[in-house]
Amino acid sequence: MTDLAGRVALVTGGTRGIGLATVRALVEAGATVVLTGRDEARAKEAATAAGAAAGLALDVTDAKAVSTVVRGVAKEHGRLDVVVANAGIMDDALLGMIREDAVSATLDTNVAGTLHTVQAAARAMMRKKTGSIVVLASIVGEYGSAGQTLYAASKAAVANIALSAAKELGRSGIRVNAVAPGVIETDLTAGLSEEAVAENVKKTPLGRLGRPEDVAKAIRFLVSDEASFVTGQVLGIDGGLVL
Ligand code: NDP
Repeated sequence: MTDLAGRVALVTGGTRGIGLATVRALVEAGATVVLTGRDEARAKEAATAAGAAAGLALDVTDAKAVSTVVRGVAKEHGRLDVVVANAGIMDDALLGMIREDAVSATLDTNVAGTLHTVQAAARAMMRKKTGSIVVLASIVGEYGSAGQTLYAASKAAVANIALSAAKELGRSGIRVNAVAPGVIETDLTAGLSEEAVAENVKKTPLGRLGRPEDVAKAIRFLVSDEASFVTGQVLGIDGGLVL
């Protein structure tokens, strides 16, 4: 069992789906976990349900707010060991149908939001010269996906944030990795048609869609000392879908 006793962790977008499962996995390993979401009441409710220390309101598109929340968590708990930049949105459309407001919302949330979170985490971890950050990329960011050009491009950028930040922060003792999930059963993918689900299951060697817990367990591994020499990696969690 991974031991995160005494560690302090922050998970953005921890109110449901992969984020909430990650909060539960980190709590189970003994970490003190703070989760965030855009709505304060929802964040508090999720924190109580998952055994987290707190649920805070935070929109990751707001760089100043991200910095304030991350600094606040580090100050209140005296340290910040783990940050999971999980908050993300998906607004799929064929190329010719992509709306301009979807472009700005997706890039602001997925790319700028992840960048703000990694920046703030690095600042908070730098002083103690230790820490681990995980960002949420996607297999579509690596391989592309028809009807998902905008989302896939944003996730390619997210993976690259992990690579560049890993190079920059390694000497400060901070590891940065990305996970690249396949199709995971959450609100984000709830709109997939039955045919699309069946097609994905058929193409997946492990014969099922992913569960939030599948991703959470991989994130828990990456942030733990079990992965002490792992940085700058993009770990696929897709049941073999891309093979
Ligand atoms: P969900 O839609 O289930 O949850 C998204 C989470 O992000 C919610 O907690 C939501 O909180 C939060 N969020 C959204 N926008 C913002 C924002 N601007 N500021 C702060 N929080 C925000 O998604 P999943 O759990 O499926 O996905 C989690 C991550 O994993 C995302 O980055 C997604 O792109 C990625 N991913 C998911 C895959 C899948 O198949 N599900 C596959 C590959 C990657 P609230 O609404 O309470 O504010």
